[in-house]
Amino acid sequence: MIIFMNYQALANLLFPDVTGTPEELEQRFPERNLPEQAVVTRIGPSPTGFVHLGNLYNAVIGERLAHQSGGVFYLRIEDTDEKRKVEGAVETLISAMQYFGVNFDEGATADGDNGNYAPYRQRQRKEIYHIIAKYLTLQGKTYPCFLTAEEIDAIREQQTANKENPGIYGKYAEANRNLTLEQIQENLNAGKSWVLRFRGEDTEESILVQDAVRGELRMPRNNMDFVLLKSDGIPTYHFAHVVDDHFMRSTHVIRGEEWISSLPMHVELFNTLGWKQPVYCHTATLMKIEDGKKRKLSKRKDPELALAYYQQEGICPEAVWEFLLTLLNSNFEEWRLANPEADYHEFPYTIEKMSISGALVDLDKLRDVSKEVLSRMTAENLYAGLLAWCEEYQTSFAELLKVYHDRAIKALNVGRGGAKVRKDLENWKQACEFLSFYFDETFTQQDNMPEEISETDRKAFFKEYLDSYQHSDDSSAWFAKVKEITEKLGYAVKPKDFKKHPEDYKGSIIHITNMIRIALTGRANAPDIWEVSQVLGEEIVISRLQKWL
Ligand code: GLU
Repeated sequence: MIIFMNYQALANLLFPDVTGTPEELEQRFPERNLPEQAVVTRIGPSPTGFVHLGNLYNAVIGERLAHQSGGVFYLRIEDTDEKRKVEGAVETLISAMQYFGVNFDEGATADGDNGNYAPYRQRQRKEIYHIIAKYLTLQGKTYPCFLTAEEIDAIREQQTANKENPGIYGKYAEANRNLTLEQIQENLNAGKSWVLRFRGEDTEESILVQDAVRGELRMPRNNMDFVLLKSDGIPTYHFAHVVDDHFMRSTHVIRGEEWISSLPMHVELFNTLGWKQPVYCHTATLMKIEDGKKRKLSKRKDPELALAYYQQEGICPEAVWEFLLTLLNSNFEEWRLANPEADYHEFPYTIEKMSISGALVDLDKLRDVSKEVLSRMTAENLYAGLLAWCEEYQTSFAELLKVYHDRAIKALNVGRGGAKVRKDLENWKQACEFLSFYFDETFTQQDNMPEEISETDRKAFFKEYLDSYQHSDDSSAWFAKVKEITEKLGYAVKPKDFKKHPEDYKGSIIHITNMIRIALTGRANAPDIWEVSQVLGEEIVISRLQKWL
C-alpha cells in the first residue's frame, strides 16, 4: 500500500524550529584546502571514563597517516550516549592523549574547542544533525517511529522464534512507516515518545566496500529502518558518524573492527545524501594469549587494556608508541634495527603493512621494547621523563631527583658511554627502585653479604680498602688496589684459578667485588662499582663502607 505523504508537512511537524539547510552547512564547513594525498582523520572516543589501549592504537595510526601526508588529525568527542556519561571523562581522555604524546591539530582540548570545524563534541552539534535529519525527512527518507520498548521486545521475540534477522524492517516497520500525517500529529499531541528512523529499502542486493586494511568487503545492502535520532533528539553513532565525518571533511575513518557489521548503514547514508564516502580502515581487535589460547582483551580481567595502566606503571610514552608500531606495522622492528638512532616519527607508516588478525598485546614484548627505548635515551631525557612521572606518582622520589639533580643525571649516565649500553631501566616505576641506592634517603640493604667471606676477612678487607682508597683513582688504578688486597687475603684474583683449584683459595675476586657492591648499593645486582662510587661521591662511599668495619 503506497500512502501519499506530504514530506514538507512532516518535516515541519517534526522539526518546526529547524531553518538551516545542508547547503549552508557545506559553506560553513568548506572542503579543506590540502594537497590531494593529505589524510584528514580523527579519533572519536566516547568519554566513558575508561580510556583504553584501543583508543591510543587507533590514534597512532591516524596521527601517523595524517602527519606523514601533510594532513590533519583531530579529536572528536563522541558523547551521544547519555547513559555512559561520566563526570570528568573528557578531561581524563584529553590528558591521557597528552601524556602519550598524541598531537592533535584540531578538536576538543582542555580549554574548549580548537579549529574551524567546531564544535567537536557531538552533544553540541545537535543543530547540525537536525538540519540533515530534516533534509532527509523532506526527501521522504525518514519517519517518526512510536514503537515502545515493550513492542520492540515483542518484535524481537517473534523474530527469534521465526529465526529471522532482528531489527525494524519490512513488515515489522510497516505500522509506523505508514502512519498518516494526522496520526503522527495526534501521537505528538499526546506526548508519545518517538525516534526518527531511516526508511530502509526492502532489498536483497549486496554492496562492495573497499576497506583499506582488509580489501574488498562484500556485504548485504542495508534494509533496516535504523534509528537516526533517539527520543531525546540526540543522534545515534551511525548518523553522527556520517554527518560529522562529512562536515569535518575526514578522508579516512580509522576505527575498530567491531564497526564492520554496521557499515551497510553508513554506506546507505552516504549514498542517500550524495556524499563521498571516506576510506574505511577497520583495525584489528586487541588480543592476549592466555593458557596458550588467543582471546580478546577484557576490561574486567586485563588491567593492561586501560591506558591508565601504562601511566601508573610508568611505561614511557615513546615505549608505548614503539610497541604499538611493532603491533601495527610488520616491518617496524626491521626498520628499528636498521635505524637505531632515528625518531620513531621517521618510520614510514603504511596501511598496507597492517595486520588484520588480532593484535597481540604481549607485556613481555612491551618490556623489551621499553628497555630498548630507554637505553637509547640521553640521561637528560631520562631525567626529564622520570621526574615528570614521579611528580604525579612518586612525589617523594621527585623531591630527591630535584635535590640531587646532578647525582641523578650521573647515575642515569652509568653504563651509557660505551659501545654496549646497559639495559637496566624498564619503566619509570622500576627506575625509581633501581636508582634508590644512589640516595641515602632511599638506600636499603636488600642482599646479604657473600657467605664465602668470613666476618674477619670482611673487616680486614674493608679496612685495607678504606686505608688505600683514593676517590680520584681512575678505574684501573682502583681495580689494581682491589686485586692487591684480594690476593693478600688469600682469594684468587683470577676467577678461573679458583675454579680449577678451589682448595688453594678462600674464594675469588668475584666474592670480593660482590661484597663491595653489596656494601655500596645494598644489592648484588648493580652497575660497575667504580662508576657507582664516582656517582655517589667520596663521602657516601666512605660512610657506607665504614658500616662494615
Ligand atoms: N565512538 C566510537 C567508539 O568509541 C568511535 C568509532 C569511530 O571512530 O568512528 O568506538
